[in-house]
Amino acid sequence: MSYTKQQLQKETLRLFEKLKNVNWSQEDCSLIAHMTLEINELKKEQNAIILAHSYQTPDIMYGVADFIGDSYGLSKIAAEHDAEKIVFCSVHFMGETAKILSPKKKVLVPDVAGCSLAESITAEDVRELKRKYPNVPIVTYINTSAEVKAESDVCCTSSNALKIIESFDEDKIIFIPDRLMGENLQKRTEKKLIFWHGTCIVHEKFDKKAIEDIRTKYVGVKILAHYECTSSVTDSVDLVGSTADMLNYVKKNPADNYMLITECGITDRVKTEFPDKNIVGTCQLCPFMKQINLGQILMALKNPNKKQIINIPNDILQRAKKSLDKMMELSK
Ligand code: SF4
Repeated sequence: MSYTKQQLQKETLRLFEKLKNVNWSQEDCSLIAHMTLEINELKKEQNAIILAHSYQTPDIMYGVADFIGDSYGLSKIAAEHDAEKIVFCSVHFMGETAKILSPKKKVLVPDVAGCSLAESITAEDVRELKRKYPNVPIVTYINTSAEVKAESDVCCTSSNALKIIESFDEDKIIFIPDRLMGENLQKRTEKKLIFWHGTCIVHEKFDKKAIEDIRTKYVGVKILAHYECTSSVTDSVDLVGSTADMLNYVKKNPADNYMLITECGITDRVKTEFPDKNIVGTCQLCPFMKQINLGQILMALKNPNKKQIINIPNDILQRAKKSLDKMMELSK
């Protein structure tokens, strides 16, 4: 599609108003203006919405996304919204979760991006755990494939994992696949958790030393960490929680300085949405999340290839849905 100079200038200024907070220049914005205009036009024509995980790049979050959030929050929006088509900008398992919760909608992912946690475990691994520990409930973190969800008793997110674990009468629970999150949860429950060996390659990289250095340098700094970090990190911070918990904390807390021990997308969100708050320390990039770009989103809307369209065999979809529905029921 072609646009007038005036249309492109207006779009450049719209983008710059948001992206200047994350160091994009007006020239940078002018280079993507034609793409964001076309994507936003196609969305309207196709009755589509774009969902962007908080770990996406700022041009996607603030240039074309209709909703920004975490995996489960976005999947709920996908299910409740009346759009016919969903473009889910995130890793593959999140697109699958949206499809499980809204099977009648067309769900597209711009790229078939993986995830170290989701890839650490297969459905056969879960069946093997069931054989090894009969009658022990399996609580599965949402960062898993549809096949793994289908073999589980219930799913959970980082926000409701503890509540779900505590809701069972059994003393022993299998918690998969994130070992580090499992260790963090073990410190907060009397139940005996059996872990899997998966880790998030982004959150496992943070160490306690960086936290100590920041505390010395910035008196009164608030340090917030994700549940997927090691327990030596989570033991030394002001808040352990999900990305939504972190954003809420920053919004409500009067402190000026924050260290966010998570993926850099959250840092970008705070800089854009709370420009008065100061971010200190370093974040980590998720190479899987950062595979997505505007060009692929455009392609998914214009002429999606087979890999961009989420399809899940009905039997797996129905069983995976049961695990997600049970999560909703138990986390009320
Ligand atoms: S941040 Fe970690 S859990 Fe999230 S997609 Fe990347 S590797 Fe997977």
